[in-house]
Amino acid sequence: PVRYYDWIAHHARRTPAKTAMVDLGSNRRFTYAEFDARVGLLASHLRDVCGVGKGDRVAVLALNATDTLEVQFACFRVGAIFVPLNTRLTVPELQFIVGDAAPKVMIHDDDLADTAQSVSRLCGVATTLRYGATGSYEQAIAAAKPLATIEPVTLDDVSTIMYTSGTTGQPKGAMITHGMTFYNCVNLGGPAYITPSSVLLTVLPLFHTGGLNCYTNPVMHVGGTVLIMRAFDPGLALQLISDPARGINVFFGVPAIYQFMAQHPAFATADFSRLVIGGVGGAPMPVPLLHTWEARGVALQQGYGMTETSPAVLALDREDAGRKAGSAGKPVLHTEVRIVRPDGTDADVGELGELWVRGPNVTPGYWNRPDANRSSFTDGWLHTGDATRVDDEGFYYIVDRWKDMYISGGENVYPAEVENVLHQLSAVAEAAVIGIPDPQWGETGMAIIAVKPGHTLSEAEIHAHCQANLARFKCPRTVRFVDALPRNATGKIHKPTLRKSFATASA
Ligand code: AMP
Ligand code: MG
Repeated sequence: PVRYYDWIAHHARRTPAKTAMVDLGSNRRFTYAEFDARVGLLASHLRDVCGVGKGDRVAVLALNATDTLEVQFACFRVGAIFVPLNTRLTVPELQFIVGDAAPKVMIHDDDLADTAQSVSRLCGVATTLRYGATGSYEQAIAAAKPLATIEPVTLDDVSTIMYTSGTTGQPKGAMITHGMTFYNCVNLGGPAYITPSSVLLTVLPLFHTGGLNCYTNPVMHVGGTVLIMRAFDPGLALQLISDPARGINVFFGVPAIYQFMAQHPAFATADFSRLVIGGVGGAPMPVPLLHTWEARGVALQQGYGMTETSPAVLALDREDAGRKAGSAGKPVLHTEVRIVRPDGTDADVGELGELWVRGPNVTPGYWNRPDANRSSFTDGWLHTGDATRVDDEGFYYIVDRWKDMYISGGENVYPAEVENVLHQLSAVAEAAVIGIPDPQWGETGMAIIAVKPGHTLSEAEIHAHCQANLARFKCPRTVRFVDALPRNATGKIHKPTLRKSFATASA
């Protein structure tokens, strides 16, 4: 296997004085030499003080900060596995994930301190470190000795675990190898125009593949500069992009990000002239929104990907963005795709089928989940669950989704997980959750519930129960009561019927 080489150490040798990253939340700036030094000190603390060794997990629960990028690369220097956690989850949701990943160390910020402490206690995590000027994280870096030796790791070693929920309702950790991330950097480099001159504004959370790999890691891989926003703010994003002193020329967002920016008063006068690329992906992108940006001179380039593919699979080139608006583009380098019929044969041009993906950017599987690993692959091909067609020029269109999942503001929601929580209410006889179209978020959830005879259940009780157990983005926005749910011949709830009855009649 090919060895993984540390990019940050490399750029610290080549361009030590160049700005590697800017933490917009705390107004700190780090050169590659400073970044490299901090990564080495943190790595030595993790190994020599916390006892983190090869294959051990280190979790992070924090709003975006450059510190999280230090943790990522420090993990790599000691061969540990970086586990970024979704800050929007509740304690019960995090407890499941942290229990599954069993990290030795949990690193968190001030905002998430209470949650991180509760979860660490519940899951028996040995050590916690807190970000911030006076936090234990800074103290650890200040007190650490330089790292004596780097743990050799290969491109086949797991570098990161990212949790996604699943159609069975339980989150599963997608294992991301060093090779997958490396190939994503290579594969996106061309279509996203990533160069050492790239200055990226990162607004998506670093705990999602979109924030971490579109395009934060690819830009650092070539020695560019990344600006890390603590949490997305449309007005601030527009102001930063317009500021010539910042020199931002690379941007990526999910559709909801572009929607919020387009609705902001500053959109009409913002200066997008330095932008070399505005990438969009992660959820269906409405064509009218593409046109809104086009009218401001920005040809957004759509891409398609998944956590499990690290993530880029398809990308649209800038020259095609106008003519092929709505397409997610063509396969990226070093990536094979097929569109497959239910019987396993290849679909014809123009025919709808399931997108399958194979290549060095595809996950070897889920952490601790042999069952999911068997059902997700055929001969190394990952089944995406996305209904796709290709046109006669080779451009791919993501048309629909066959897995039971919807996307709200870029966050995936698996109805099975929400339905499990609804069934905890003793008055619920039957429950189903569907995504319904929403102009702001793409989709939001609707719960359709049949109450047991002789029981009562109010909408307010349902909302309160969901809020206590589920991240806000997973909580159904609306509730409909029915006598019984439609079922198919085998007794399964028939969601297409529900979608037909309720998806357009939203409140
Ligand atoms: P995640 O693992 O959170 O990145 O979610 C991956 C899923 O997001 C895919 O399987 C698709 O269902 C959806 N997705 C990603 N990119 C696009 C896109 N360009 N158009 C439509 N859906 C997308
Ligand atoms: Mg997503």
